[in-house]
Amino acid sequence: EAILKVEGLRKVYPDGTVGLKEISTSVKKGELISIIGPSGAGKSTFLRSINRLNEPTSGKIFIDGDDICQAKGTKLRKMRRKVGMVFQGYNLIKRSSTVQNVLHGRLGYMSSLKGGFGRFSESDTKMALEILARVGLEEQAFKRADELSGGQQQRVGIARAIAQNPSLLLADEPIASLDPASSEKVMSYLKMIGEEDGITTIVNLHQVDFAKQFADRIIGIKAGEIVFDGPPNELSDYT
Ligand code: ADP
Ligand code: ADP
Repeated sequence: EAILKVEGLRKVYPDGTVGLKEISTSVKKGELISIIGPSGAGKSTFLRSINRLNEPTSGKIFIDGDDICQAKGTKLRKMRRKVGMVFQGYNLIKRSSTVQNVLHGRLGYMSSLKGGFGRFSESDTKMALEILARVGLEEQAFKRADELSGGQQQRVGIARAIAQNPSLLLADEPIASLDPASSEKVMSYLKMIGEEDGITTIVNLHQVDFAKQFADRIIGIKAGEIVFDGPPNELSDYT
């Protein structure tokens, strides 16, 4: 039943900084979880450990029952494909079109470039346009990524992540660079798509109000440890 199970996850950086002490938790399919906590608490370390963008020092991370910490080569690549990532800085290819950025999620970077600007197979383009419509960007489909507003770029980031058909979606401070109105829009799309596709979504947020508004469950982290885990309405005990 748990799509993600984390056991004794620990991260010590090469300079000796303890990023995570020993985190254990388990996540059910379809939940929208927000990780909150002050700057330096370990939120980003936690999220990036899940697909081993950040290599854990020790612990186990089961995704759909398989421990990604034990996976290598093809197996690791296959497991990583199940995990979609959304970044604070969007990480789009700025000079590529919106459609091409989305196909990057589906086909991988090199294949997404093969078509060149604006030239893709019809079925790929159709798929990308369908996903873009779901985040309200059909009109921006053939614009360059750097012609879009921040909120629009982040919605492309979401579209790219879901184009890879993930079972888990990780968003690391996706709204930290956005104004409140764009933030609310981005969070609404994350929530809506997670619900529609049954994708488990974990979002790092330092804004507690957004976590309360959108999350099914909130995990509070401080100094590398979980200090709160529960529904938003119980959070007053923590803050
Ligand atoms: P948050 O995302 O909650 O702001 P981070 O996960 O980025 O927290 O950081 C957790 C702790 O690990 C902090 O003390 C931070 O300074 C430290 N840290 C993060 N990255 C590195 C690194 N590459 N080398 C050393 N320490 C790091
Ligand atoms: P957001 O999610 O950022 O709120 P919207 O679709 O609401 O996105 O668009 C916000 C506004 O920003 C729109 O009027 C849009 O036309 C405009 N916009 C689009 N591209 C740019 C750009 N490159 N710089 C500034 N504003 C832009």
